[in-house]
Amino acid sequence: MPLSDLQYIPGVGPKKAELLEKECNLHSIEELLGYYPYRYVDKSKVYRICDVPAMNPSPGSGTTLPFILLRGHFTLFTEEGIGMKGPQHHLKALFTDGTGVIECIWFNGIKYIQSSVQKGREYLIFGQPKEFNGTYSISHPEIETVKPDDDPESKAGLYGMYNTSEKMKRYGVNSKTIQRIILNYLQKNPAPFPETLPAYIVEQQKLMPYNQAIRQIHFPANADNLRRAQYRLKFEELFYLQLYLVRSFKMRHQVNGGFHFSRIGDYFNNFYNLIPFELTNAQKRVLREIRADVGSGKQMNRLLQGDVGSGKTMVATLTMLMALDNGFQACLMAPTEILATQHYDSLRPQLEHVGIKVALLTGSTTQKNRRLIHEQLENGQLNILIGTHALIEPDVKFQNLGMVVIDEQHRFGVEQRSKLWTKNHRPPHVLVMTATPIPRTLAMTVYGDLDVSVIDELPPGRKPIATIHRWDSQRMGLTRAIRGELAKGHQAYIVYPLVEENEKLKYKAVEQGFLDAQRSFGPEYRVAMVHGRMRSKDKDAAMQRFVQNEAQVLVATTVIEVGVNVPNASVMVIENAERFGLSQLHQLRGRVGRGAEQSYCILVTSDKLSSDTRQRIDVMCRTTDGFEIAEADLRLRGPGDLEGTQQSGLAFDLKIASLAKDGMILETARNWAKQIVEADPMLESQPNGILRRRMQTLFAGKVDWSMIS
Ligand code: ADP
Ligand code: MG
Repeated sequence: MPLSDLQYIPGVGPKKAELLEKECNLHSIEELLGYYPYRYVDKSKVYRICDVPAMNPSPGSGTTLPFILLRGHFTLFTEEGIGMKGPQHHLKALFTDGTGVIECIWFNGIKYIQSSVQKGREYLIFGQPKEFNGTYSISHPEIETVKPDDDPESKAGLYGMYNTSEKMKRYGVNSKTIQRIILNYLQKNPAPFPETLPAYIVEQQKLMPYNQAIRQIHFPANADNLRRAQYRLKFEELFYLQLYLVRSFKMRHQVNGGFHFSRIGDYFNNFYNLIPFELTNAQKRVLREIRADVGSGKQMNRLLQGDVGSGKTMVATLTMLMALDNGFQACLMAPTEILATQHYDSLRPQLEHVGIKVALLTGSTTQKNRRLIHEQLENGQLNILIGTHALIEPDVKFQNLGMVVIDEQHRFGVEQRSKLWTKNHRPPHVLVMTATPIPRTLAMTVYGDLDVSVIDELPPGRKPIATIHRWDSQRMGLTRAIRGELAKGHQAYIVYPLVEENEKLKYKAVEQGFLDAQRSFGPEYRVAMVHGRMRSKDKDAAMQRFVQNEAQVLVATTVIEVGVNVPNASVMVIENAERFGLSQLHQLRGRVGRGAEQSYCILVTSDKLSSDTRQRIDVMCRTTDGFEIAEADLRLRGPGDLEGTQQSGLAFDLKIASLAKDGMILETARNWAKQIVEADPMLESQPNGILRRRMQTLFAGKVDWSMIS
């Protein structure tokens, strides 16, 4: 049977194959076998409903309990709020096992439940009880019929649960169906795949062989086997990713001739002498690291990590001047128009002062200016181009681009970076800067192909920001506190989250907040507002008013998140702080504390918080260390939610490993990858043939190998 044809597997057929393809993106049996359960139900442990309250650590506080399995029957179904929209329309049912009664509730798929679940019949239900005023309920439980005792499927043990969509369920494809298809296939083909790791790794690392791991991940014989299967598959996933990264890193160092910047000249020195402050030791160290790179003849691909306000822009500017001193052009790319414009406005006067020609290119550059910029780039009149994504458009051609700086890198992926490589006959040096500190495990993976420099020191004289948590009900004191700061001549930010779920209400909070702020602080103080729906001209005008201190209060959404610099602002109020991620809060907070005065960040949250959110807010109040915050973010939310990691350019999605939880496996995998690349970079030896072939399958089409090998 061809591995690529799902529909011919017994029990599938064209209709189900189409559903699996459309809803789960599964196109072959190989992909189906790689569709691992998202959870396992231990069917040997059925709970009694009367024991549920005893599982609750804090009754009366709206706790959510762990997932449990119950066995019993439904007694009563009631559909409420028929004809209404949203959660008001739902289906409730009572479920009993003779020891007690628990409520079940559905907000979606009501018709399906009504037509498929029968009153009085015995079911196993699986879900997470929630408590409200002493009553327990489970929303959207998983439901299964109980098999007669001689049915092999009724045997106690670990059962995989597979993700399925409502649409699949409507067509009768549920978790069980997927399980059965996989079981059928594996019974006929007990060892369908060749081993995917060389024997020496499998042996030394004591890994479960591939076919066995695939079988155990779907049908674990016991908890220990499941653990070993998971380890094997996680290891493999992380190993290939690391092998790819470590190899790219090595190839680039060996093969890519970079431009050789041999001298430091007038541009650098004249500019340096005009800097009104002393560089921090960390800035100097990083400049030396960069200098060594560009003077080595290799191409630089360096990540510069530094907390907000650590002075990365200065390092970037001096780095670009190294290129200019050696007859090259440079460009600086920022993720938003506001940020690009701010860089341009602040750098242009200083750069022009030493005779450098700079231009700004963004989406809103006029056609006429654009043509002029293109012309001057090609004939070499322009030295430095600052801009947004517009810089990587193919029609932007440089005479001799030698240095690319990318600010706030987390929004640019590997692929976008590689587009820049085509802007000259050799790849220019690349410096990527990020203020989002990244935990080690994530950095190893997302930026595994980069060298890393860290600015771990803030310019002198900055007072740490005091972060305070205030509940919604403590609002009165807040206005007074802000007024106190304004009276000292300082400025304040008030930030609102976007209501992403509702297009109509999206900007309501910030607009309402603007009116409230005018009432609270006007007419003595003026209030400006910026948010994403405003025209960019109006946005810039409002921003300018705040920068010039014509407005003392800025009410905004997160458009101010990156880069904006107003040292006179000493207060940042973040409304509905519970709706923001940790790294986003950290970024926002970095907008204050840029001057010499004591600054404050006030996190306002609703009066009721889940324990996770509570912990997030506590971390923010406890520390201003970006790395500690990033670690906590990864721990509390997992990497999928870390802002920007989706676009981070990970070469492929992780199916089973978690960067948050599997740091140890990642490190082991990385060490293996390093050893192998050290000994056999081209993977030419006979035992490494498996690796070479596997890499080709996994990374085919994803990577521009031509640039590196
Ligand atoms: P970020 O790393 O967040 O991009 P910036 O480069 O915007 O930080 O720098 C923040 C502020 O600190 C700027 O006003 C900059 O001029 C100033 N700055 C940078 N380096 C120093 C230094 N060594 N001493 C004093 N101020 C500095
Ligand atoms: Mg910056």
